[in-house]
Amino acid sequence: MIELEGITKSFGSLQVLKGIDLTIAKGEIVSIVGPSGAGKTTLLQIMGTLDRPDSGRVVLNGTEVNRLNEKALSAFRNKEIGFVFQFHQLLPEFTALENVAIPALIRGESAGNARRKAMEMLELMGLQDRASHKPAELSGGEKQRVAVARALVNRPSAVLADEPSGSLDTQNKEELHRLFFDLRDRLGQTFVIVTHDEGLASKTDRTIHIIDGKIKKEEL
Ligand code: ADP
Repeated sequence: MIELEGITKSFGSLQVLKGIDLTIAKGEIVSIVGPSGAGKTTLLQIMGTLDRPDSGRVVLNGTEVNRLNEKALSAFRNKEIGFVFQFHQLLPEFTALENVAIPALIRGESAGNARRKAMEMLELMGLQDRASHKPAELSGGEKQRVAVARALVNRPSAVLADEPSGSLDTQNKEELHRLFFDLRDRLGQTFVIVTHDEGLASKTDRTIHIIDGKIKKEEL
């Protein structure tokens, strides 16, 4: 599903990624851990086509994304990849339902279809009775689950999450982690999660350790 080959990336004179090779299978839940500044977010951004590597190949679901122009890339990203960030980044003036519908509207769905799909996702998250609430009227855990619904509304093949539970308390954290595994089991999505949460990392199918821009070799 996700193939990275020889990825390097520098910002000015700072080389952040120093040759990353990584293959992630469909339906796998992978955590990415490592010290702050190691390059985890940069790697996730490149995986998600939000940034381009200086060298190396990124192949997502069989498409070599480096070859796409900006317009094709942005359509590809909207269809194939869902993003969840540490802070929910919901639009405050829109309801939960409207926020979830946005990626479907961008994709070109009619307003009716986008609303229907958004409602389906909210139901899957157990949030159907929050559909008409604005973000300020939702708890932290609910906001983050609405953000997950928004990431999934176009049924992307992969969900990339950067510290998704970083701003949540223990109970909401565990609920969100359970949700990821439940969604993978029901929808078959691939999840890549950058996290400092050791409890979450230990539960994922595989943990990738990034240290100083490289993947630390698995100890045998
Ligand atoms: P991590 O997620 O592991 O904490 P990051 O990938 O966010 O690490 O950052 C790795 C390094 O790259 C850091 O030193 C950070 O300051 C630097 N960096 C990240 N993004 C940029 C950018 N857009 N411009 C300049 N430096 C950046």
